[in-house]
Amino acid sequence: MKADPADQRLMLDIADVDAELHRIEHRRSTLPELAELVQLEEQLSTQRDEAVRAQIAAEDLQREARRLDNEITSMSMREEKDNQQLAAGTLPSKQLSELEHEVTGLIRRRGLLEDELLDVMEQQEAVDADEQRASAMTNHTQRQIDEVATRRDAALEKLAQDEAAVREKRAAIMANVNADLMAIYDRQVKAGRVGAGLLRAARCGACRMELDRGLLSRINATPTDDVIRCDECGAILVRTHESGLASS
Ligand SMILES: [Zn+2]
Repeated sequence: MKADPADQRLMLDIADVDAELHRIEHRRSTLPELAELVQLEEQLSTQRDEAVRAQIAAEDLQREARRLDNEITSMSMREEKDNQQLAAGTLPSKQLSELEHEVTGLIRRRGLLEDELLDVMEQQEAVDADEQRASAMTNHTQRQIDEVATRRDAALEKLAQDEAAVREKRAAIMANVNADLMAIYDRQVKAGRVGAGLLRAARCGACRMELDRGLLSRINATPTDDVIRCDECGAILVRTHESGLASS
């Protein structure tokens, strides 16, 4: 196949902008912010679990404190009632001593419950502190996530602008490309390969394979408007003054 050397060189420009588009895509998928966000989301989830555990513990203790408080109140009421009866002094002595005995027991049990309540209240303080710490940590991590997400969005925005500029450049080159060369190029790209490469320092610019002397001298003898393909990768092998060939 024949193609004007200038048209062939244009394929290098297309290959350059396509390489730039690849780099942009690669940067987009490997933004450090993405890994940072994954790590922070994991951290947030662990901290939320801790906050939920502290909340459940606080609720349990609240229930326990209420229960103890109710029991203490009902005991106080019974004590008061018993004491009123004792104060009335109308009971026979046997019942009187039974009642005194009951009051003593009530006071003792109420004392135990009050100790228990104090203990629960101490635990509540500790759990409240846990809850506050967990919530502060969760908020801190959430703020970090928001910050990183903002940075990620700014980076994506910048990449989108870069991409738009490169695509514009590509469209401008495409207006002048040779359709037959472009068909070869597109087939290469569809096969996951580079479409065109510069022949330089005896290497294919697309796959970096070194060309042997025999092949180089054959290329040297080929008219410059002959389209050459790389044996290794199939890219359009473009010859320019940089190729170091006598013919170009
Ligand atoms: Zn090659």
